[in-house]
Amino acid sequence: MLKYCFSLCIAVLALVSCACAKLNLFQQPSRAEFALGTVCNVTLFDQAREEVYRDIFGHIREIENRMSVNLPQTDVMRINAAAGYAPVPVNNDVFAVIERAVYFAELSGGAFDPTVGPLVSLWGISGDYPRVPSQEEIDAVLPLVNWRNIELNPEERTVFLKIPGMALDLGAIAKGYAADEAAGIVKEARINQAIIDLGGDIVTSGIKKDKTKWKIGIQDPFNSRGVYIGIINVFEGAVVTSGVYERFFEEDGIRYHHLFSPSQGSPAAGNLLSVTVIANSAMDADALSTALFVLGYEKGNALIETLAGIDAVFVFEDKSIRVSPGADFFLTDDEYWIAVE
Ligand code: FAD
Ligand code: MG
Repeated sequence: MLKYCFSLCIAVLALVSCACAKLNLFQQPSRAEFALGTVCNVTLFDQAREEVYRDIFGHIREIENRMSVNLPQTDVMRINAAAGYAPVPVNNDVFAVIERAVYFAELSGGAFDPTVGPLVSLWGISGDYPRVPSQEEIDAVLPLVNWRNIELNPEERTVFLKIPGMALDLGAIAKGYAADEAAGIVKEARINQAIIDLGGDIVTSGIKKDKTKWKIGIQDPFNSRGVYIGIINVFEGAVVTSGVYERFFEEDGIRYHHLFSPSQGSPAAGNLLSVTVIANSAMDADALSTALFVLGYEKGNALIETLAGIDAVFVFEDKSIRVSPGADFFLTDDEYWIAVE
């Protein structure tokens, strides 16, 4: 029997120090709204003005209305509908996100690929009827999954998918973009300290009053939401996780998660449970967390080593954790252990 386990688990739980919790969380509670198919949580720690919350969530919804594949008539849906037929003019931000997605597709050798749309639809992992497709079905859609068949025209600001049936899915990058945009609004409003958490894509904004780092918990993949295995300490920046426990279904005791290998056409195999990326930009961290998960540890870590200012925490099935040298990670769960090469 197909057992569908859809989890809206937020991948990581933003933690603030006790002092901040007392000072701010009770006086100025976070604002949580459902958008982008997930719970979006914003906490403004000083001058928590209503209009700033309104601007942030309004802008997140604007992004959703342009980039979603779950709403009709978004720019991305129009691009997909015109696949194989015509280039489609899009909004600046949609063009910029797709350009960045293509950059990460090339950088990751196609492990990250924004044209996974046909695979997402075939497996239906986030839908009501997920299923394991036959190899024939997978083979039929695989030729449609190839970022090289995206044609971008910066002068006209158009996007063209060269083959009919191709489909973009920006699910692995647009949440990060929205988190960066929310952080931009926070800065413009001159709010000094804030945390933005869009379903596990977290941005910390500003330096805490006590000058210590922000503490971001990494979700325990085997436990319920909010149970964390360790803490990443960061000053200002993005912390983004991709994990097998976020969206999946089970059939015959096998878990099928939502992070696809674009070359195989099935959920990426391997011994990883989650990858968390620390970077300045949440959009970059979002794309990279998916890319590193699909690449696996060896290739993923090799990629990280080529990228300045980017770090990662890899959590494995055997409860070992590998941390890149620049990540300030503190293990809190003694069932897990840090593996040293
Ligand atoms: P990530 O690793 O960041 O992304 C995984 C997602 O990216 C997969 O679900 C798939 O869509 C895609 N993907 C899988 N493999 C690859 C790959 N190799 N390369 C590139 N992409 C890949 N969910 C809903 O249920 N309902 C909604 O209405 C809805 N609307 C959304 C609107 C927008 C604009 C966005 C950005 C997302 C929306 N989502 C919706 C998706 C939801 O929030 C996802 O959980 C989320 O995008 C996946 O993020 P993640 O952090 O779990 O994993
Ligand atoms: Mg991602």
